[in-house]
Amino acid sequence: MLKGKIALVTGSTSGIGLGMAQALAAQGATLITNGFGDADTARKAIADAAAKAGHTGTRVGYHGADMSRASEIETMMQYAESEFGGVDILVNNAGIQHVAEIQDFPTDKWDAIIAINLTSAFHTTRLALPGMRTRNWGRIINIASVHGLVGSAGKSAYVAAKHGIVGLTKVTALENAQTGVTANAICPGFVLTPLVQKQVDDRAARDKLSGDEAKRSLLGEKQPSGEFVTPEQLGALAVFLCSDAAAQVRGAAWNMDGGWTAQ
Ligand code: NAD
Repeated sequence: MLKGKIALVTGSTSGIGLGMAQALAAQGATLITNGFGDADTARKAIADAAAKAGHTGTRVGYHGADMSRASEIETMMQYAESEFGGVDILVNNAGIQHVAEIQDFPTDKWDAIIAINLTSAFHTTRLALPGMRTRNWGRIINIASVHGLVGSAGKSAYVAAKHGIVGLTKVTALENAQTGVTANAICPGFVLTPLVQKQVDDRAARDKLSGDEAKRSLLGEKQPSGEFVTPEQLGALAVFLCSDAAAQVRGAAWNMDGGWTAQ
């Protein structure tokens, strides 16, 4: 379905971004990955997902731009243009978390969360849009969160950034409403990635719980299904948003959250 399309997924060396990249590669897209850590293992996992779906020799690029730095994002987008001919599918996924009440919240953590979880998407979007508009086709998928729709104590910067990216998604959708470029946000509940594992570990230490008890306790507070959302399920939603069937899904903040925001 996505043969010939170039997809850039920020923060795709791990977790949800890796799942997104694998799902898009399995549909035939060429991938540009980004993120810290072990890029080669991620690239191999993406190429394997493509091969398993019958797409052999899928090209998987990588750029290590730090999403907190506008100049590095610009270099990454130039790399996408010169090496791949531009970006058709942009998944703004890179993100970090820090949990503390506002009076104790470190100001450098606030700045980093706003830069990585929100401002980076402004930069990638502004730089990807001209090419998408010229080709009159594009898909911008912003990985927001249930925290783009509701708040949780201790997560001020994250909730502010995620509400912000839902707003940015709406404006991006409106400014391109009469073009072939759509913009939507995906709002996951808890997904068991390294970002959430840290919260599980902190809870286990704080409340003297086993790992499994801490997971159940975390889910029990917010997620009625009692189950984690998976990167594969989120990848399938991203594939749908890239399809022709989703051409009129514009400016949505689509939750996949085990019932979290139905409460
Ligand atoms: P993760 O920690 O597994 O992955 C985060 C990715 O972002 C990694 O590839 C990491 O290297 C990259 N990254 C972090 N800082 C970066 C920077 N400065 N520059 C470039 N890359 C950077 O986390 P995840 O849970 O997969 O989170 C991915 C996205 O999904 C985030 O935006 C997060 O807010 C969102 N999200 C996660 C959950 C969840 O429960 N895990 C729920 C809702 C939304």
